[in-house]
Amino acid sequence: MTAEVHGFQTEVAKLLNLLANSLYSNKEVFLRELISNASDAIDKLHFLSLTNPDLVKDDPTFKIRIKADKENKTITISDNGLGMTLAEANEHLGTIAKSGTEDFLKHMTGDAQKDSQLIGQFGVGFYSAFIVADKVTVLSRSATVSADEGVSWESTGEGTFTSENIHRDRRGTDIILHIKDSESEFLDSWRLRSAITKYSDHISVPVELWEEKYEAPAEGEDANTPKEPKFEYVQVNDAKALWTRAPKEIKDEEYKEFYKHLSSDYQDPLTWAHNKVEGELEYTSLLYIPRQAPWDLYTRDNKHGLKLFVHRVFIMDEAEQFLPAYLRFVKGLVDTNALPLNVSRELLQESAVTRKLKKALTKRVLNMLDKLSKTDDYKIFWQQFGNVLKEGPVEDYSNQEAVLKLLRFASTTDESAEQHVSLEDYVSRMKEKQQHIYYLTADSYQAAVSSPYLEQLKSKGIEVLLMWERVDEWLMGNVREFDGKTFISVTASDLQLGDLQDSEEQKKQEESVEQNKDLIERFKQVLGDKVQDVKVSTRLIDSPSCVVGEGGRMMTAQMRRIMEAAGQKLPDEKYILEINPKHALVEKAAAETDNERFAKWAEVIFAQALLTDQGTLKDPSAFVKVLNSLLVG
Ligand code: ADP
Ligand code: MG
Repeated sequence: MTAEVHGFQTEVAKLLNLLANSLYSNKEVFLRELISNASDAIDKLHFLSLTNPDLVKDDPTFKIRIKADKENKTITISDNGLGMTLAEANEHLGTIAKSGTEDFLKHMTGDAQKDSQLIGQFGVGFYSAFIVADKVTVLSRSATVSADEGVSWESTGEGTFTSENIHRDRRGTDIILHIKDSESEFLDSWRLRSAITKYSDHISVPVELWEEKYEAPAEGEDANTPKEPKFEYVQVNDAKALWTRAPKEIKDEEYKEFYKHLSSDYQDPLTWAHNKVEGELEYTSLLYIPRQAPWDLYTRDNKHGLKLFVHRVFIMDEAEQFLPAYLRFVKGLVDTNALPLNVSRELLQESAVTRKLKKALTKRVLNMLDKLSKTDDYKIFWQQFGNVLKEGPVEDYSNQEAVLKLLRFASTTDESAEQHVSLEDYVSRMKEKQQHIYYLTADSYQAAVSSPYLEQLKSKGIEVLLMWERVDEWLMGNVREFDGKTFISVTASDLQLGDLQDSEEQKKQEESVEQNKDLIERFKQVLGDKVQDVKVSTRLIDSPSCVVGEGGRMMTAQMRRIMEAAGQKLPDEKYILEINPKHALVEKAAAETDNERFAKWAEVIFAQALLTDQGTLKDPSAFVKVLNSLLVG
């Protein structure tokens, strides 16, 4: 058989081009990726061998070996893991399986340093070999096939690769890198050793490096006599899975490196928690909070989850059963003795152990976030993951209060769009007689901070939480209270200030209603069934009017758009118009004796209220016409 030539998937070709032509500040990442792949392949075979021990009986000791050959300018990374069949090699080393390739390429900035950092994050690990190699040869044999079904795969990374069946005596994979002249430093044993140590220290399989053997001169022998150097494989890591070690013996650097291996993230994590639990339900968990949200955090069909180990044997990736969806940004692993080694996804779903673990791990994450929330890094976390966490109070009723504590908002006291205000902060600042937590949802940050609905509360010094994210309206529609205080929307038609209004104010208010009775009647008459009702407002100071919804909540324009986009029929909302009789515009209208002109003023005052609330009008040109006729006339 002769080698067949294949074209790379377009995305891969683009990527390879990028890899070859960019300047990398951190070229040694190729070792992380290739060692990681070798370790994955061993994990997979280890798992299969549990039910089929014959697969490994000819070569039962798992290991990864790395050998530099200065003469031929190659580095070979070998493993005795699962290996690949010809079809698998063609598929896995010619395409990018993950659906995010497009996204990956979009993230490319053209800034070589930043781009190189992205590698690995998107599952393009193998191709990083081309950072240092101008040709890559892969020899492999799947543990499930015979010696005649070995594979040879080769590419110079320029659009095509060749592959064919070969005879190969042993299972597993050799990745042979033909090192570029400019990268020959990696052929030096000291250079290689330092990088390999870094990337393999936490890996549970032995990693052995081909090194020159030091031989003490024999007795009577002249130490200066030149000798043929002898080489041997030397184990460079202690091959103990990181999470099985005692937490206090593990350095931060080791936790960080392990995170990168585990998550294919290039950045350090924000924080982590490593726990060993004994007793009824034994497990070890190592959970990390990333520093940056992955591109697919909101892609519903993409899997997120922990790595599952049973008795230290890798069982599966992305086991989403161990954490609720609102914590899907957490990376890490759980290792337990309480599940059988042959556990399947289906079995996991139904297992009582899974449910217990999920409960315990959720608590761990919430604790970890609580700790983080007392540090400056929480700001980074909130920027990246705040909107996901806001799904929590609704999704996870049993932890509602704990998750609510972790949320952050902007407010009339601290308007920063970065959102620094916790509900505990809010409650601690509540006025003496204040019973409720007031909030406003709006279409945008700008609309929120300058909303007329805030005027009265602001003038009384009552803090209002400001919200403008998509998820906020849904969140506030589904939670009732925090710390025994109910949430009240400031757009509620019957905004109750209760004891916050003293009797003096209430009296004035009643007087104002009485005094403006006729004016209200006139408004009602001319606006007819365009409005549900007209009232004297208690919340306005600087604005002439506003609209409020029936029964407390009003759908924001944003929510309307979401519903419209989802093809849902919108309820035909009729608003209550509130007017501010002290405002000059309303006074001017009130003074108008010509009824036709009054109707126009009423129209404008109503349209302004709608415009402030929703940012649009159904018929803007009609509004402009009416307004102009008043301005000119
Ligand atoms: P990822 O590791 O995220 O899947 P990579 O680009 O690193 O992405 O590897 C692509 C695929 O190639 C792997 O998923 C695996 O199927 C295959 N592969 C790579 N290296 C090896 C290896 N040493 N042994 C067996 N399969 C491998
Ligand atoms: Mg990989």
